[in-house]
Amino acid sequence: MEGAGKLVEDEELREAMSEKGLGTPATRAQIIEGLIYEDYIHRSGRELQPTPKASSLLFALRHFGVNELCSPELTGNWEFKLKQMEHGTLPRIEFMEHIVDLTREMVSRIKRGDIPDTVFRTLKTPCPKCGGTVQENYRKFKCQKCDFSIWKVVSSREFAPEEIETLIAKRSVGPLTGFRSRVGKPFAAMVRLTPELRAEFDFGRQAGDDAAEKVDFSGLTPLGPCPKCGGRVFEQPMAYVCENSVLPTRRCDFRSGRVILQRPVEPEEIKKLLATGKTDLLHRFISRKGRPFSAFLVRAADGNVGFEFAPRAVKSTPRSPGRNAQAERTPTRAKTESKPRTRAKRLANRARTPRNKQAA
Ligand SMILES: [Zn+2]
Ligand SMILES: [Zn+2]
Repeated sequence: MEGAGKLVEDEELREAMSEKGLGTPATRAQIIEGLIYEDYIHRSGRELQPTPKASSLLFALRHFGVNELCSPELTGNWEFKLKQMEHGTLPRIEFMEHIVDLTREMVSRIKRGDIPDTVFRTLKTPCPKCGGTVQENYRKFKCQKCDFSIWKVVSSREFAPEEIETLIAKRSVGPLTGFRSRVGKPFAAMVRLTPELRAEFDFGRQAGDDAAEKVDFSGLTPLGPCPKCGGRVFEQPMAYVCENSVLPTRRCDFRSGRVILQRPVEPEEIKKLLATGKTDLLHRFISRKGRPFSAFLVRAADGNVGFEFAPRAVKSTPRSPGRNAQAERTPTRAKTESKPRTRAKRLANRARTPRNKQAA
């Protein structure tokens, strides 16, 4: 973002941004983490990639004519004015009036504006109802012949076209991360197409759900031995489960969520855990407070899956060692149940209790 000034045409504005760019070095990392947390960008190795949500936001802003928010010019402009204030050539009141006017003006443009149903793209997979063509617009994926359609944004999360292709072709997709409940808590879920062809959440079998049917593991490759009973562990839609944890016997209770603290856990990672007792260092777990952290998943003494935290590198910015920083260093045991919201809460709560039994 230091380089954002290069995108600004006007010489004076570019000059004003040359020292600061967008944000300061101290706030830059936070801005990026914030964008990741709100699902505007994804981190892929060293790359930051915009998500469908980001593309939709820019599409909407351009349609509303709120171009100020789509380019670094606005920040350049403000940096320039802040400089002027610093040198006493611009009164503070004038700057604040400008901010209020601009905000009011942009809000009214958005209120008045409308977004046309421009076609973004055509899906490769035909309509599951009539075989017609399914097209994506700003709001929906919609068949051009019949009434089949799927909302693009569900529980504050926008579907990517590839996800809808999979959903239509295979009748289910996921688990997908990044949904938000009404009170803003993140959760993960499978999404499936009902026989009536509506998209619906599927949380898999809930803990304590005794009515669960017998699961058929035939045709699946076991990922490794169960740490509790030595049975075979298989991949299921929402969790990795021991073959003996399902009907008819149910004499084991080993299961580990396929998404833990908003991070999908890949079959390869569970394979390594089952074989060696520990995964590689895994990144991008998100704590309850929304902070990303890295940890190993380990086989705890009782056979459940727990966290072991990486030794923290000393940071250059001084930060008081708050409770969280302490907790993230403390290995704790954390059972992974299937219910996403309560699990996140429980994991976070456990992570705060000081020094439990050491994970094996
Ligand atoms: Zn159709
Ligand atoms: Zn087992």
